[in-house]
Formats: sequence, structure tokens, C-alpha cells
Amino acid sequence: MASPAVQAPRSAPSKTESYVDNKRKDDIRRANIVAARAVADAVRTSLGPKGMDKMISTASGEVIITNDGATILNKMEVLQPAAKMLVELSKSQDIVAGDGTTTVVVIAGALLKQCLSLLNSGIHPTVISDSLHKASLKAVDVLTAMAVPVELSDRDSLIKSASTSLNSKVVSQYSTLLAPLAVDAVLSVVDPAKPDLVDLRDVKIVKKLGGTVDDTELVKGLVFDKKAKILVIKDVERDEIEFITKTLNCLPIANVEHFRAEKLGYADLVEEVSLGDGKIVKITGIKDMGRTTTVLVRGSNQLVLDEAERSLHDALCVVRCLVNKRFLIAGGGAPEIELSRQLGAWAKVLQGMESYCVKSFAEALEVIPYTLAENAGLNPIAIVTELRNRHAKGEINTGINVRKGQITNILEENVVQPLLVSTSAITLATECVRMILKIDDIVTVR
Ligand code: ADP
Ligand code: MG
Repeated sequence: MASPAVQAPRSAPSKTESYVDNKRKDDIRRANIVAARAVADAVRTSLGPKGMDKMISTASGEVIITNDGATILNKMEVLQPAAKMLVELSKSQDIVAGDGTTTVVVIAGALLKQCLSLLNSGIHPTVISDSLHKASLKAVDVLTAMAVPVELSDRDSLIKSASTSLNSKVVSQYSTLLAPLAVDAVLSVVDPAKPDLVDLRDVKIVKKLGGTVDDTELVKGLVFDKKAKILVIKDVERDEIEFITKTLNCLPIANVEHFRAEKLGYADLVEEVSLGDGKIVKITGIKDMGRTTTVLVRGSNQLVLDEAERSLHDALCVVRCLVNKRFLIAGGGAPEIELSRQLGAWAKVLQGMESYCVKSFAEALEVIPYTLAENAGLNPIAIVTELRNRHAKGEINTGINVRKGQITNILEENVVQPLLVSTSAITLATECVRMILKIDDIVTVR
């Protein structure tokens, strides 16, 4: 027997249901954003030369000390699917540019924060997403206009950019050695026939415990961390064969029957070198050596050695970026502030919701100078305000020199980075945020 009191809501269910449904979608979107932002917050303190390092202790008992965003995130056990997208984002940046892996995640976090307030003001996710896309395209244009071309013969500029990327690493005190080394390593594998392409697989990094990072050297030849009484290098890894044959200009054989003179390589010197408590075998003076190079990295303990390798990887990637796309841009938050200013001005001429979204995008970018200042123990609000003023006066290369703790023309301070690192960070971060925004349900399949 239904009483009117029970019946009354009957007409309501459709309303209630649709309300619940929308709320669920909204909840999922917000939960995703919150989870992804938590990941971004985790790496924020690592940004920049004065950023903190992370000590990661893995389930297997391994300890890693690093400042590299991609490595930190890769080792973090992130379970929430949207948060995992930020881990993937950092990985993509690592593949595309090799540097800027913290930056990309920090930008994504700031964009997500802005998205939340745009959602709160009732703007539809699709509108937000489309506007962000538009803003990111414009951002790339602005950055490209700010960039200065660089020639590969300009060794100084290449070294400066490699130094910028090494500045923020645990091994930054060795950047005077590692930066030129990274430049020489990459340039030595550039094929004049294909001057825009660099395959970093042609640069082999061999790690050998002992000595200090200062003892790291570039070897024009091959290095094996093995010791054989008659000198035979055995147990060569399958995936090293290509590199070795390319370097030695010889051919691999699978069977003694194929052992012929034309398959052999020649070298002037094969020597066994004692290093600390171990030995390596060095092959130098190779005849018709292939376009490869080896970097022998040294370090007094495994933690430093591993981080030196990761940092060198970033520096090599920076030089590779410059070979691919020969433009440099200032660092130290200068491009982000300039973007923020120009996009902010652009937002004013746009109409309706789009204008709000672009304005939010512009504000989000201030996160980079803000965080750089914050991590360096400077007053972030004062710094960002001052930067905005200087940029409004047309000083587009004014940024924070974190090391000196002052606002200066950052190009003159030699803090430069490849254009590709900045553009890809903005493009990839926007893409990832748009993807997160458009998810309105999580379906678990067992
Ligand atoms: P990522 O993993 O994103 O490369 P980093 O920790 O390497 O993160 O920090 C990169 C940021 O630090 C860039 O914005 C770069 O411009 C800035 N940076 C590097 N060196 C300096 C410096 N000496 N002064 C100010 N900013 C710097
Ligand atoms: Mg870096």
C-alpha cells in the first residue's frame, strides 16, 4: 500500500537519477584531477638547480638518489590510473626531448589546478579542453618567436645548454667536465649525410665504480668491462653486438666456418687498464672506425655513478635536441613568464568561455618561475611580480638566476635550453591534461 509520502518521490527519480549520474561523472573527473595533481606535487620540489633530490627505496631494497623527474616517477608505485598518466607523461617527455621531465609534470599539475576552478565555475570540460589546445598551439608560436638559432659549430652555446641541464643534478659540480664531454660525444656521432639525426644508441655509456666523476672520459674506441688470460672478450651481450661491430667496422660471425679476413676489424691498441679494484679492456686506434663513441663514467659509489649516468643522458639528449631543432631559448622561467604575459593579453581579445580558459592557461604557466624561486628559498610572489613587470617592459629574456638568487637577463647568464624541450613540455602537458579532463568514467575490467 503505497502512501502518498512514498509515491511523491516517484516523479522525482528521473531527476534524481540524472543528477546522481552527472555527479558521478563529475566526481570521477575531480578524483582523477586530484590524484594526478598529487603526483605533480611530489616532484615539484625537485625542479631547478636548487631543487631537492629524492631518495627512493625500492621494494627490492635498492636505493636510488636522483633529481630526474622521469626516474622519480618511474620508480613511484602509482596505482590510480589518472595519476599513472602523469608518469607516462614524464616518460614521453624523456623520449621526445630527454630533459624537462620534471617541468612537464609540474606544468600539467598547474593546468589541472586551473581546470578544477574552471569546472567549478560551470564551464563544460569539452570547452576547457578545446581552449587549452588552442592556447598550447599559440604558446608554441610564442616560444618559437622567442628562440634564437644556434649553429652546430657554435660549441660554446651547445656546452651552455648541456650545462643548464646538468646544473640541476646531483652531479652539478662536475658540469664543467660533463657538458663539453656530452657535446663532443653527440657531435662525433652525427653523420654528415644525415645532419639532423642523432641516434643516442651510438653513444655507449660504460659505468665503472671507482675514482670520482672527475675521472669520466670520452674514449674514441671501445671499452669492455671484462677481463679475459689470453685476451678474449667473452659473454658479449646480444644487444651490444650491433654497437661493437659498427664501432670496429667488422662483421659478426656465428660460426668459425665464416671466419674470414674481410669480417675482421683492426685496431692499433688493445690494452687492459687497471681502474681501482677492477680492470677494463680498451680498444683504440680503430681503423675506419664507425660513427660511435664511448663514455667511461666513473664514480666513487654506486649511487653517484648511477646518477652521473642519468644526468649525462639528459645532457646528451639536450645536445641531440639542438641537432634536431637548432634553436635555443632562455631558461630560468623567462619563457614561461613571457608566455603567460602574451597569452594573458591574447585572452583579453578572445570571447566568452574561451577567454577564461586561455587566461587560466596563461596563469598556470607561472608555476615554473614560482617554483624555481620557491625551491631556491626566494620569495616567489615578489619574484614573479618583478618578472611580470620586467617582461611588460619588453625584457623578454629576463628570468631568475637561481644560483645567484637574482633577476637578470638570463640569456646573458648563459642559462639556455633547447627550444624543443620547452615546446614539447607544453604540448605534451596540455595533451595529457585534456585527456584527463575528458574521462568521465572508470571501468574496471577483470
Ligand atoms: P627538468 O627535469 O624538468 O629538466 P630540472 O630540475 O632540470 O627539471 O630544472 C629545469 C629548470 O631549471 C628549467 O626551467 C631551467 O630553465 C631551470 N634552470 C636550470 N639552471 C638554472 C639556473 N642556473 N638558473 C635558473 N634556472 C635554471
Ligand atoms: Mg633538467
